[in-house]
Amino acid sequence: MCSGRVDLAHVIRAFQNGMDGVYIGGCRLNECNYITHGNYDALAMVLLARRILEHIGLHPERLRIEFMSSADGILFAEGVNDFVRTVKALGPLGRGEGIGPEELAARLAEIQKLVPWIKLAKREKLAARLTDPAGREGHFTAEEVAALFREVPAYYIDPRKCQACGICAGRCPVDAIDGGKQRVHVVDQERCIKCGTCLAVCPERFQAVTRFVGVPPPPPPAEDERTPVRRKKAAAS
Ligand code: SF4
Ligand code: SF4
Repeated sequence: MCSGRVDLAHVIRAFQNGMDGVYIGGCRLNECNYITHGNYDALAMVLLARRILEHIGLHPERLRIEFMSSADGILFAEGVNDFVRTVKALGPLGRGEGIGPEELAARLAEIQKLVPWIKLAKREKLAARLTDPAGREGHFTAEEVAALFREVPAYYIDPRKCQACGICAGRCPVDAIDGGKQRVHVVDQERCIKCGTCLAVCPERFQAVTRFVGVPPPPPPAEDERTPVRRKKAAAS
């Protein structure tokens, strides 16, 4: 398949599955048969992924992309051999960096969960066509990636405002909103992929969804406190 189809989620999954290194071979840059030039997408994804690996304490050299044509057999063999030597020198994933298996699994799982949001937050830079090799290394910076993770949002449904219309639950792509008829809806923060759809679709007249950045959202209401406020008032009157 086109190297542009290799997703950040695939790379992280390979590491989650215990691979010590990931090597991506793409067609030569500027020689794409289509107008898509997906190999540039792959290049930008790899540059970001390498910064993310660094951020979680893994060596970025564990991920490499190289570009070649189907006639470049020798180049491919040399590239792979060199990559294998590099990864062997780094040692097993995690152990080579002094990270225990449980901590490594937790860090990778956290990144995997955030992949949709990372792609959304960095969509413009991920779509950049980096024709100038000189600009590639600095396209994503360590500080930028650190800021990205500091700014991970959390979406919270205000129990005083939610009217249980169910629109957000119907549109959430990962079923992260617990709702039900005449029940204040609640975001499951563990499942939420931070897409922001609930904030966008909650009707203007309710405005029940809030985005929190840098501070944790309040805890969700207890099970017996999930009757929508307006209905509670109506029931009392
Ligand atoms: S931001 Fe809202 S819609 Fe998106 S995954 Fe989280 S709960 Fe679901
Ligand atoms: S949070 Fe908004 S969209 Fe979701 S159920 Fe409540 S009122 Fe409706």
